[in-house]
Amino acid sequence: GRPSQPPSPKATTIPGVAHVIAVASGKGGVGKSTTACNLALALAGLGKRVGILDADIYGPSLPKLFGLHGKPRVISGRTLAPLENFGVKVMSIGFLVEEETPMIWRGPMVMSAITQMLREVAWGDLDVLVVDMPPGTGDAQLTMAQATPLAGAVIVSTPQDLALIDARRGVAMFRKTEVPILGIVENMSYFIAPDTGNRYDIFGHGGARREAERLGVPFLGEIPLDMKLRERSDSGQPIVATDPGSPNALVYRDIAAQV
Ligand code: ADP
Repeated sequence: GRPSQPPSPKATTIPGVAHVIAVASGKGGVGKSTTACNLALALAGLGKRVGILDADIYGPSLPKLFGLHGKPRVISGRTLAPLENFGVKVMSIGFLVEEETPMIWRGPMVMSAITQMLREVAWGDLDVLVVDMPPGTGDAQLTMAQATPLAGAVIVSTPQDLALIDARRGVAMFRKTEVPILGIVENMSYFIAPDTGNRYDIFGHGGARREAERLGVPFLGEIPLDMKLRERSDSGQPIVATDPGSPNALVYRDIAAQV
């Protein structure tokens, strides 16, 4: 392989890509990938040319979310063609390694994998490249934040205190790297029982909105805990693409209109 290079603060833009937006979370399992996927689809629904990059290399979930598998075609040299579904171009480390391969990668490998997926992919002309970030605020996240100029970051959190504390760390990290915070999304915000219509605030509710106000960043919207959303995600039929008129799809559209 090539020698890994330290992240450069003077990172260059990706040719043809107008804006890169990071979707990040302080910890795993809060719905970052689900949000990134549906946000990308909602941006495409607004008429933008959209790509999405799976920088969550320890737990790539975009192949499943987009219902895509197979190996990307090599176009020339090391340049790969992204796969595509629902009008969005997708690149994921998940296309390049076997599903069962445990990814015990060291820092420099993570960095060069991310850089390669950013730069050695034929993205074509894009209005927006959404990046599904690795969870947390460590080296891989910093690398990504410095690998290319980011137009902004969307932070995903559940309403729980612990997730919010981590989200706060995420905000701090992006601020330190001078990446604008586009706002916070509260995922798993509440639950409406489909049989009774009763509402339950399973993880509490409203914490992300309060945190956004406290930090002085926009609050972008709340997505409930929803079984259909989960089922569609798991079956590669993301809700924004396959049920665009549903209430949750409209929330994603509203979020897309704000970023
Ligand atoms: P992360 O990227 O933060 O690790 P994921 O997007 O992979 O999180 O979501 C973790 C799990 O929770 C997935 O099984 C996903 O389908 C599910 N999930 C995410 N958001 C919701 C939601 N609003 N309602 C129901 N299930 C959700």
